[in-house]
Amino acid sequence: MKTSLAFPVKKIATSKLSETDFSNLVFGKTISDHMFVADYKDGDWTDLRIEPYSPLQLNPSNAALHYGQSIFEGLKGYKNEEGEVIIFRPDANWRRMNESAERMCMPSIPEEIFMEGLTQLIDLDREWVPTAKGASLYIRPFMFATDDYIGVKPSDTYKFIIFTCPVGNYYSKPVSVKVETKFTRATEGGTGAAKTAGNYAASLYPALQAQKAGYDQLLWTDGKSHSQIEESGTMNVMFKINGTIITAPTHTGTILKGITRESVIQLAKDWNQPVEERFLTVSELKEALEKGELEEAFGTGTAATIAHIRLIHIEGKDYELPEKPADAFSHRVLAELDGIKYGTTPDPHQWIIKL
Ligand SMILES: *Cc1c(COP(=O)(O)O)cnc(C)c1O
Repeated sequence: MKTSLAFPVKKIATSKLSETDFSNLVFGKTISDHMFVADYKDGDWTDLRIEPYSPLQLNPSNAALHYGQSIFEGLKGYKNEEGEVIIFRPDANWRRMNESAERMCMPSIPEEIFMEGLTQLIDLDREWVPTAKGASLYIRPFMFATDDYIGVKPSDTYKFIIFTCPVGNYYSKPVSVKVETKFTRATEGGTGAAKTAGNYAASLYPALQAQKAGYDQLLWTDGKSHSQIEESGTMNVMFKINGTIITAPTHTGTILKGITRESVIQLAKDWNQPVEERFLTVSELKEALEKGELEEAFGTGTAATIAHIRLIHIEGKDYELPEKPADAFSHRVLAELDGIKYGTTPDPHQWIIKL
């Protein structure tokens, strides 16, 4: 691989590979040998390096721990038949990370540091990219404040780290979801469009209540009137009603701009499948369910790609969705995305890079 950015690489003394059971991977529990680290100080990213994945030393007054200046990304790498590693749309994650950074008063990361850190790390740990069908390498870039100061203000210093986790076939069983009309994930003017730690902390309590009531996930509604569907859990959500895919638009700043969402919309357009980026109201959804016009409902996100929804709870009532035919849009779009990611299908939009 051609490298343009040189930085020190300190290799692990003994790889953890031999003690890792690749047939029994729990999502997010197994971490590969190395991590990429860069430190931000005096207005610059410095001290770029790859080193063994290991604990960090933090002072108790670390600003991120108190006030939450912390953002992250999630993307995946795949191994093709030739043993090449394929990474899906890393440039889109880089762009989105910088959008999150701006909202949280954090410094932007130059494309070269993000891309070279990512590709050199994955090249070094390429043995960690699983080869089993449906398995992949989950890649977690993140940034957090490192000032030792408990006044409320943007930190002057930050750490940017990338580490990776081999993950098994993330086929998710069709899920049940509950329309949430009390709690809010995001409101206009808030941080819903940023992949920032606090959004996830705030979603835990409502999600737990839904799980106690017997549902897998929430369907979030808007914070003002709770009448429009926004997202599902930590995924974007799409509905196919009378032949048209409907998904929330992103202009309100309350929707996380999913890269899977954008890819699914692009493929739908390629296939002349009608798509509308508009808010679906809870009453429209209810009516479609009652009339049998809701053909498909699914979440979209990096972890599962497509998460099929089998049941929707609205205002005290459970609605079962019909069985999907084998050629349903959500099945076809999942197969197409998998094909592109594993390098078995052409990639007309130049979404993948190969290492
Ligand atoms: C990460 C995320 C998504 C999905 O984004 P992808 O880029 O498709 O993985 C959707 N909603 C929320 C709230 C998220 O955090």
